[in-house]
This record gives sequence, structure tokens and C-alpha cells, in this order.
Amino acid sequence: MSGKIPLAGVIGSPIAHSKSPQIHGYWLKTLGLRGHYIPMDVAPADLEQALRTLPKMGFVGVNITIPHKEAVLEIADLVTDRATMIGAANTIIFRKDGKIHADNTDGYGFFENLRHNAPDWQPNSGPAAVLGAGGACRAVIASLLDAGVPEILLANRTRIRAEKLASDFGKRVTVFDWVKAGNMIDESKLVVNTTSLGMVDHPELRVPLDGLRSDMVVTDLVYNPLKTHLLAEAEQAGATTVDGLGMLLYQAVPGFERWFGIRPEVDDATRAAALR
Ligand code: NAP
Repeated sequence: MSGKIPLAGVIGSPIAHSKSPQIHGYWLKTLGLRGHYIPMDVAPADLEQALRTLPKMGFVGVNITIPHKEAVLEIADLVTDRATMIGAANTIIFRKDGKIHADNTDGYGFFENLRHNAPDWQPNSGPAAVLGAGGACRAVIASLLDAGVPEILLANRTRIRAEKLASDFGKRVTVFDWVKAGNMIDESKLVVNTTSLGMVDHPELRVPLDGLRSDMVVTDLVYNPLKTHLLAEAEQAGATTVDGLGMLLYQAVPGFERWFGIRPEVDDATRAAALR
């Protein structure tokens, strides 16, 4: 065994709110692995220097969060197709040959969360209504299209952002006006909120929700609070609901496996660790 203790971490600014140290720290401890996972507050101007220096200090990789997820693509030597398509990366691997490898695991996390917590939902069962058009939305759309969802109905407050997304992802994405978002919910089997609406200290999601039905799956990327207004309404309507914390947990799995060599499990204890 090499004497070096593998290091990983998360780079963002600010970083104090990140739950990633709890998640990775919990896995390192329960799997009995040598290694540390460290939160690092790095300013945009210092990102490249930080990424070039960390491997020399024993880092095997890092997660990247706001505001660096897009900028890191310019710095990385190798970018996966899905990170290119999404236009952002959240997982970096420092390769032994010195190259910085950038990937995006948000779509994977989103889909695994659905697969585990709404196992009866079939991607080809019908359209998916998606609210939002930000960075996380691109990852969600890429994963839904990959999985075979026949049509994505998309609405965003700033319509032009939704249109850009539709033109990037092709004919299976149809844009609705934000004020008509309620109509697209009526037509869907899956409803996804990818906006920050409903998050603590943010405005509430005020889209008409009377179209929610018991044969739908409804999921929210917001995980603080765990039960958002959207999920509470969906539960009332008898729909299957999936909260956003699972996405955060599952997106962490591929990075941890690459850095520390073991694929960790996402279970109730992992959720509890993230919420501590
Ligand atoms: P982002 O790129 O800043 O996008 C924010 C989205 O929210 C945009 O669509 C924006 O619409 C919309 N929005 C913000 N304020 C609004 C308002 N007052 N009315 C209507 N729409 C509004 O952010 P992001 O990175 O995509 O993240 C979005 C949310 O997902 C955040 O809450 C984040 O915490 C969460 N997230 C969760 C996970 C997870 O693992 N569960 C992963 C990634 C992100 P405009 O385009 O009109 O501004």
C-alpha cells in the first residue's frame, strides 16, 4: 500500500452550505477507508491554479459546485460528452498522467434517484413536464432523453433560456410559456421542478398544480425543505413523490468510486448523514 492518503474535496464559493463533506465523510468512515474529503472555498480567479496544484498535494479528484461548474470545462484537459452536452461539470478526476478529467454526474444522480424511489415509473410511459432551464435542468433533460422519455414539455420564467435548451437538445423538447406551465403538467406522467423556487429563502413555486394526478411521479430538485409545496400538493393528489436529496446522494457515487476505489451504497443512513 502506498503511504499517501488519498484526498478529495469540493470546490465552490461559498462552500459552507455544501452537504458533500458529510456524504463522502460518512462513506469513508463506514467503509473503513483511508482518505479525507475537504470543503474548499476558491475564488473564480484562483480556480485554475487550485486545480493544477491539488494533484501535487495528494488530491485524486474534487467535486465542483457553484460558481465554477461551467468555468471548469475551459480548464479541464478532457471533458466527457455528457459534461459537454450539459455545459457544466461537477466531478473532476486528477489522472495519473497529469490530465484533469471533467465529468457531470448530476443527470446520473437525478435518474438513479427516480429509479430507486419511483421504481414503477417507466421512461417511455409518456411526456415529462420540466420547470426551469438552468444548469441543473440541462442535466435532467439529458438524462430523461437518454432514458427514452418520448417528449419533454419545458417551461421557464425566461422563455429564451428554454428555447436555447430546446434547440440544443432537439425535437423531443417542446417549450411552453411560463404562464401555461399548468397545462403541460396536465399532459404529463412525470413532473420535475428544476427551478430554485420553493427552496428555503426563495419564493414559492406558484404554478397551477390542479393537474396533478395519482398516476404521476413528481420530483423536486430542491431538497431544503425536503417536502416542498410541489411535493406536498403531489402527495395530496396521490402521486408518487421523490425528494431532491436522493439526487444529491446518487450524484456523489461515481466520484467516490473513482477516487477511493469502492462503490458506496445510498441508503437511509447516508440520507441521515447528509441531513446532520
Ligand atoms: P440556476 O442555473 O441558477 O437556474 C435557476 C432556475 O430557477 C432558472 O430556471 C430560473 O429561471 C429559475 N428561477 C429562479 N428564480 C425564479 C423565480 N423567482 N421565478 C421563476 N423562476 C425562477 O440554478 P441550478 O444550478 O439549475 O439549480 C436549480 C435548483 O436545483 C436549485 O434549487 C439547486 O439547489 C437545485 N439543485 C439540486 C441538485 C440536487 O442534487 N438535488 C443538484 C443541482 C441543483 P430564469 O432562467 O428565468 O432565471
